[in-house]
Amino acid sequence: MIVTQKKPIEELMAMLGSAKRIGIVGCGSCATACATGGEKEIKELKAYLESQGREVPVTAMADYCCMNLGVKGTLKPFQNQNLDAVVVMSCGDGVQTVSNNIKVPCYPSNNTMFLGEAERFGLFKEACHLCGNCVLGTTGGICPITRCAKSLVNGPCGGAKNGKCEVNPENDCAWILIYNRLKDLNQLEKLSQTRDDKGYQDVSYPRTINIRGKKS
Ligand code: SF4
Ligand code: SF4
Repeated sequence: MIVTQKKPIEELMAMLGSAKRIGIVGCGSCATACATGGEKEIKELKAYLESQGREVPVTAMADYCCMNLGVKGTLKPFQNQNLDAVVVMSCGDGVQTVSNNIKVPCYPSNNTMFLGEAERFGLFKEACHLCGNCVLGTTGGICPITRCAKSLVNGPCGGAKNGKCEVNPENDCAWILIYNRLKDLNQLEKLSQTRDDKGYQDVSYPRTINIRGKKS
């Protein structure tokens, strides 16, 4: 999931400036799981804004703020409301999708942190840097790009102490984890495979993928 954190409320209020009539859109997917854009958080923000003398005539929950078609429908009640601003309680992708579908300034209530897994409620761990060429099949399912502080793809730097990373001793050394996992899987021979450097300089943003084989 995309892991988000709430921005400090002062930062959101500064973005809103003197906006009087404000709509709120939450996200029923990742932001709900992160407790940054679910029904409860929408209610809390609405109550806060009203306590600050703002009007919140409309709120809504999109199933996924990142899905254009669903967002269009979600925003129908927002049209003709004379809104000065919309607060979007999602990841940055969702804010952009909402912004593309309404002619009102849109503001993020969250910071978008990373793609990760929910280990348990409220505990999220970064898992993937979206590198575009997944090597998990050779590393026992542990991502060296994300879990290694230096994103090394061909083995450890040699600086680990007691199994911990030399850059951040709170973290396990990714390559020791990879070694142990491959050993458990009887796949230690994969350690001797050479993996290509990532070549991030070859990536040109923004990227587009269309599974129908067309550009758009
Ligand atoms: S190698 Fe790591 S960063 Fe790249 S796609 Fe796979 S999990 Fe994501
Ligand atoms: S100690 Fe391990 S995780 Fe840390 S940078 Fe070196 S190889 Fe990567």
